[in-house]
Amino acid sequence: RTAGQPLLEAKGIVMQFGGLKALDGLDLDVASGIVHGLIGPNGSGKSTMMNVLSGVYAPSAGTVRFHGDAIAGRHPSAIALAGIARTFQNVQLFGDMTSVENVLVGLHHTFRSSLLDVVFNTRRYRVEAREAQQHAVALLEFVGLHDVARESASNLPYGRMRLLEIARALALGPDLLLLDEPAAGVPPAALPDLVAIIRKIREHGISVVLIEHHMDVVMSICDRVTVMDFGHKIAEGDGAEVRRDPKVIAAYLGS
Ligand code: ADP
Ligand code: MG
Repeated sequence: RTAGQPLLEAKGIVMQFGGLKALDGLDLDVASGIVHGLIGPNGSGKSTMMNVLSGVYAPSAGTVRFHGDAIAGRHPSAIALAGIARTFQNVQLFGDMTSVENVLVGLHHTFRSSLLDVVFNTRRYRVEAREAQQHAVALLEFVGLHDVARESASNLPYGRMRLLEIARALALGPDLLLLDEPAAGVPPAALPDLVAIIRKIREHGISVVLIEHHMDVVMSICDRVTVMDFGHKIAEGDGAEVRRDPKVIAAYLGS
């Protein structure tokens, strides 16, 4: 990878659902080590773009490069292992499992033990399981959830479920984290904690693509913002630049 090349480079992304072009030639470059906001009115294609970047959808046209490698259309698990982790607009946790178990699911890719190691409870497996447990607890501490490590995920208040999803995504050890409306349903009093966690993630050198409706959250943490409408980019710049862009104002007034 040459210096100055973006971490993620998407060009001409089209996503067609029947007669609808949810993405209509979208370009998106995400630099290393920044929080990049993706905003736009409802239905403008933000979640669809996240689904393309994470491999849920293969785009109808266009290319995605990550660390210079073409990844569009690859399986979601291959993209996750390449270093792109995500959360979902609607929380997707294992409700019957505890917080720490949910994070362990995110860590399973690091396991090298074979099924026989597990069956015979070998030393290799016991060491690996203990280390994974410590790693999972550390991730819960990172997002401020260590006090509920043994709680069922379904018993957590909604805002804390969103943090648990972030911890599980971080378990992949990603270079890029995609967050789809992490503040949705989070009580206003809990928003500063969420913002602080996203800042800490950036401090660790992980890039974040943040879809967010709360404009104060977007403006307070995004280094760069891309504004979408009808499946393409209508503006890009820092928060202050896009906020005063007439095309952006018109798109939001029209929605
Ligand atoms: P946003 O996240 O910006 O609100 P979405 O990406 O969810 O927007 O949706 C963009 C458009 O694509 C909407 O018109 C939506 O109804 C449509 N869409 C999204 N996913 C699908 C799908 N799986 N099948 C058909 N239409 C879809
Ligand atoms: Mg969405």
